[in-house]
Amino acid sequence: MLDIKVTRTQTPKAKPDQTKLGFGTYYTDHMFVMDYTEGQGWHSPRIEPYHPISLDPAAMVFHYAQESFEGMKAYRTADGRVLLFRPEKNAARLQSTHKRLCIPEIPVEDFVQAVRALVHEDKDWVPSEPDTSLYLRPFTIATEAHLGVKPSNTYQFIIIASPSGAYYEEGMSPVKIYVEDEYVRATPGGTGFIKCGGNYAASLAGQVKAHELGYSQVLWLDGVERKYVEEVGSMNCFFKIDGVIRTAPCVGTVLPGITRMSCIELLRKWGYEVDCETRLPIADVMAAAKNGTLEEVFGTGTAAVISPVGELRYEGEIATVNGFQTGPVTQRLYDTLTGIQWGKIPDEMGWTQEVE
Ligand SMILES: *Cc1c(COP(=O)(O)O)cnc(C)c1O
Repeated sequence: MLDIKVTRTQTPKAKPDQTKLGFGTYYTDHMFVMDYTEGQGWHSPRIEPYHPISLDPAAMVFHYAQESFEGMKAYRTADGRVLLFRPEKNAARLQSTHKRLCIPEIPVEDFVQAVRALVHEDKDWVPSEPDTSLYLRPFTIATEAHLGVKPSNTYQFIIIASPSGAYYEEGMSPVKIYVEDEYVRATPGGTGFIKCGGNYAASLAGQVKAHELGYSQVLWLDGVERKYVEEVGSMNCFFKIDGVIRTAPCVGTVLPGITRMSCIELLRKWGYEVDCETRLPIADVMAAAKNGTLEEVFGTGTAAVISPVGELRYEGEIATVNGFQTGPVTQRLYDTLTGIQWGKIPDEMGWTQEVE
């Protein structure tokens, strides 16, 4: 158990208009902070007024990108309760990120306690308009001032919270995806399976290129042969082909999404055949589009929950999915997951926990 010291703000901020929140624009009154010092371990857990951080310009995070992050949400139910969705899964994933980046791990129970404490403190900031949420961003940075390459001997773990608007302001609608065949996101032995800022820095060029061509996201192929589908931007990607639902296996180059995991569990419970062990060639996806067996394509991630894909472009060829309409499995997953998260349907899976 962490002994969290709480210092409350003397100057609470005005709450933003809940119908115009957007994403990642506003931040709550408080933040959680915990320090790591070699020889001492993680220490000084505290909640403080939200404030800028001051670091030495030689802090190693700026030079060698020793940084990890997580993304999760707190949801307000119609009767005013606040729920978290599988926070222990985020805690476990942060541990695997830390392991890969030589950052000391944070115990699962401490992570969950810290998240719960911050949400408790800023509970009034969890918005109540339909489909809004409090987005939570836990992250760790290497703070030692040192210009040699090695693991830092000091770190700071911080959680900030941002009230966020409905992802689909005009209702869920399919997106157009550009299949990237030049840049790669991840290679075997690399960092594709963890959440670190560096992965995103390396993905920007592909994203900019896709935007210029009128596509909202990139579908990444495997980094070795550029042959197999991996994932989309900050989402995992599912393909329903001839009745079977397929998604890339998490074998080192694909981020193990908690939404992905939850979709697989729900789909299997509903009796669908799910193949998340075999790699899927992009050529098979394009061929399925041609012969009419590409039934549905959707992305999964905390931000959008489920994002239907209406079009894929690969090497100049265009595949339209389900007549650019959201498919029935896509819709059912969206309704079920958001139903559980916002407490609209019973949580038979035991995935949510309430924050008092
Ligand atoms: C965070 C993330 C996802 C989605 O993970 P969730 O736990 O479902 O939010 C997928 N791909 C990448 C690259 C990510 O960073």
